[in-house]
Parts: sequence; C-alpha cells; structure tokens
Amino acid sequence: MVALHNVRKSFGPLEVIHDVSFSVEKGEVVCIIGPSGSGKSTLLRCINGLETYQGGEIVVHGERVDTKARSIRQVRTRVAMVFQRFNLFPHRTALENVAEGPIFVKKEPREQALAQARQLLERVGLGAKIDAYPAQLSGGQQQRVAIARALGMRPDAILFDEPTSALDPELVGEVLAVMRSLADEGMTMIVVTHEMGFAREVADRVLFLDGGVLVEQGPPSEVLSRPQNPRTQDFLRRIL
Ligand code: ADP
Ligand code: MG
Repeated sequence: MVALHNVRKSFGPLEVIHDVSFSVEKGEVVCIIGPSGSGKSTLLRCINGLETYQGGEIVVHGERVDTKARSIRQVRTRVAMVFQRFNLFPHRTALENVAEGPIFVKKEPREQALAQARQLLERVGLGAKIDAYPAQLSGGQQQRVAIARALGMRPDAILFDEPTSALDPELVGEVLAVMRSLADEGMTMIVVTHEMGFAREVADRVLFLDGGVLVEQGPPSEVLSRPQNPRTQDFLRRIL
C-alpha cells in the first residue's frame, strides 16, 4: 500500500531523512517511534505529499508521490493524515468538518456526504455531538472528529502524527480506543506515537527512527522487548 525506497529529504543544506526504505502492506499497522527531531513528522509529510523529497521514491497504491505532478491531489485524498493538534475548522460544526472534504474535494452530493458524516461521527462515539463546534468539544472529542474526517475521505491508509500527545492524560484512552477499532477493521495505518502500550498491542511492526536513519524495525515483541541496536536500547531506556 505504501512503499519507500531510499528516501532522502533535506531542508536547504540539512539532510534530515537519510536513505529510508520500508513498506506497509494493506491492513498493516506500523508504529514509528524515535526521539524528538528524528524526522518522524517529516517522513509522514513526505508520504502524503505535504513535503517534497530529494532522493529515492515513495509509492502509494502503485502511484509515485510527486508533489509536482497533477496526481498529488489524488495521493492526498488516498492517504489521510491526523495531526497532533486536530486542525479542525473552528467555525464549522463537527458534522460540517467531516462532510467538508467529501463535498468539496470528492464532489459528493451534499446529502450523501452529510449522511456519511453522521455515520462516521457515530462510529467514533460522537453521535450526540454532530452540531457542536470544536471549541465546545474536549481535546479527545476533537481528535475523534479529526479521525472521522480522515475516514470521510475513504482513504487507503491513515497517517497519525502523535495523535494523543496534545491531550490531557485522561483523554488519551478514548482516542487510542478508536484507533484500535480501526486497526481491528483492517485499516492500513502508520502511527507516530510515544504510546508504547498501543505500539506493543496494536502494531504489526515498529520502526525506530533516530537522526533521520531507520535504525531498527520488526515486530513489537522484538523491537520494544529485545531491541538489538544500542540506539534503540538507549531510547527505550530513557522513555520507559
Ligand atoms: P520529529 O517529528 O521526529 O520530532 P521532525 O520531522 O519534525 O522530527 O524534524 C526533523 C528535522 O527536520 C529536525 O531537525 C527539524 O528541525 C527539521 N525540520 C522540520 N521541519 C523543518 C522545516 N520546515 N524547515 C527546516 N527544518 C525543518
Ligand atoms: Mg513530530
């Protein structure tokens, strides 16, 4: 579904992603862990075409991600992104936030898009909040609206960039529960997270990124429990 081949990304003279290769199969959940500044967000932004990259190739569902190509809008609708800070439209209700993409980007009929948005909000446990504005919702509820919005585009994969890092601790669980249910339903997901419990229980594979280098990858039982690389060992020792 998603494949990276020797990807390199620089900001000016500074190379921040060095020769990264990995692939994600349909229905797979891959968690990316690593220290702050290691390039996790940049990598996700390259995958859905929000950033250009200078070397290698990223392929999503058979299509090369090339920010200059006309197909880039296609890639962006196929790969949805959920951000740390929700990024909802503040002057639109939960329902309008979810229906916006299908109506204006996918040109779906308005009534159909609104009906689907209602269903999606129910699916994330917010059926009673469809007319609420973001400011009337808790952080956990806002992030669940953001997940419903991502689902509304019927993506092939969803990228999550630290989706629970901005939440009060008591709200983290409700968002992880929604993500877990998506994983159970077979959604292809790439999740940047510091939630090691989630990674351990839900991820098929864990990738450790450090200084823009993909240092180690494997099933959580290996990478998290028996890391081979000293840099992975050191990182896990510091966060656990
Ligand atoms: P992470 O998400 O793992 O914390 P980032 O992908 O945000 O890491 O950043 C990786 C590196 O790229 C850091 O050194 C950061 O300073 C740099 N960087 C990120 N975005 C930009 C940008 N727009 N311009 C210049 N440097 C950037
Ligand atoms: Mg980041």
